[in-house]
Amino acid sequence: MNILILGSGGREHALAWAALQNPKCDKLIVAPGNAGIAMIAECARLDINDGGAVAEFAGENAIDMVIIGPEAPLAAGVADRLRDAGLLVFGPSAAAARLEASKSFTKEICDACNAPTAAYGHFTDAAAAKAYVQTQGAPIVIKADGLAAGKGVIIAETLDEAEAAIDDMFGGAFGGAGAEVVIEEFMTGEEASFFVLCDGTNALPIGTAQDHKRVGEGDTGPNTGGMGAYSPAPVLTDALAEQAMAEIVRPTIAEMARRGTPYQGVLYVGLMISEQGPRLVEYNARFGDPECQVLMLRLGAQALDLIHACAEERLGEMQVNWADDHAVTVVMAANGYPGDYAKGDVIEGLTDLPEDSFTMMFHAGTAESKGQITAAGGRVLNATARGATLQEARDRAYALLDRVNWPGGFCRNDIGWRAL
Ligand code: ATP
Repeated sequence: MNILILGSGGREHALAWAALQNPKCDKLIVAPGNAGIAMIAECARLDINDGGAVAEFAGENAIDMVIIGPEAPLAAGVADRLRDAGLLVFGPSAAAARLEASKSFTKEICDACNAPTAAYGHFTDAAAAKAYVQTQGAPIVIKADGLAAGKGVIIAETLDEAEAAIDDMFGGAFGGAGAEVVIEEFMTGEEASFFVLCDGTNALPIGTAQDHKRVGEGDTGPNTGGMGAYSPAPVLTDALAEQAMAEIVRPTIAEMARRGTPYQGVLYVGLMISEQGPRLVEYNARFGDPECQVLMLRLGAQALDLIHACAEERLGEMQVNWADDHAVTVVMAANGYPGDYAKGDVIEGLTDLPEDSFTMMFHAGTAESKGQITAAGGRVLNATARGATLQEARDRAYALLDRVNWPGGFCRNDIGWRAL
């Protein structure tokens, strides 16, 4: 099978690595890829948000299946365009990706199928939004409706903060994403991510994870794209996962199918594990980054079989061969991230790492320049490892990072602390 993966982060490096573990993968192209991906696969320049260009490229290169990594091409309808061209696609249509692209749409789906989630109101003007927060009190959560790269959510501790956030959003702080605002009850509990493959009809869980969003140790400081993750998430027990499938995921999939917009791809289910059980925080229409890295290392070669079955709408015949293991990924980022940071530093020690099915250095923002690997983004490397215990996996991930020489980078030294 000839495969094209769209994206350029650690998530796509992990997807590419997993595809190559499987003998069914004959040819692999990643667009645009990064310096680490280029060590294992062909990389191609391509505007991945242009469905027509991707379809044309896939045709020219005899691609059988396209795996879409990030959310932007999904929201732009690239999956629709590729399916129209007769290609197998892993990733939802634009209509189904609204589960990520519009928070009010997701709330409407939850209402329609009775899925447990935070109580909410949905507003298109500031006065009505402010009147609502006055009736609800604080803490309260103010969200820009559209995609805002994880920055469009304000947890307001006071009513003044809530009103300021409402003014900011309607004032255009998040552009078009803030033209509508969702206001939610503040939920308490521990958060966990649940990953489920959906082929429109069937839903198959493929793992759980927890990530560390804050830049500082002890989960403090500003939010980032994610500084590390581990899998499984101990808080999401098998019983709670089954409860989430029964009360949230299967009803959502059925409702999407009923509306004529079946969901096909991976559904990232962000859950709050509350005293009443799992409640939905958010859906994403793609794998999380860095959660994908731990999931792929744990699934190995079977990941491609599962993704292929998902694209061919035959998940009903699949099952996951679970290993009783743990995986950890530690993100190395450029000093200053998530604020301003320098690009172009040479990173040494990356070409002779001991990589196998237990430890992998996935690349995120790296580039190649004059035969050397350089830092080209905020989050740059993802040291990922597997072990019989979380502690063993974590020790291996940090040992891998120790071999890297990059004075301009940093990592958190406490990934997985909550579970340990
Ligand atoms: P991201 O891209 O970071 O996942 P997002 O923009 O899609 O963010 P959400 O996932 O809806 O936004 O919210 C971001 C974070 O805010 C959540 O991971 C959670 O920690 C917190 N949060 C969101 N909604 C609630 C809520 N109702 N109660 C408590 N915390 C919440």
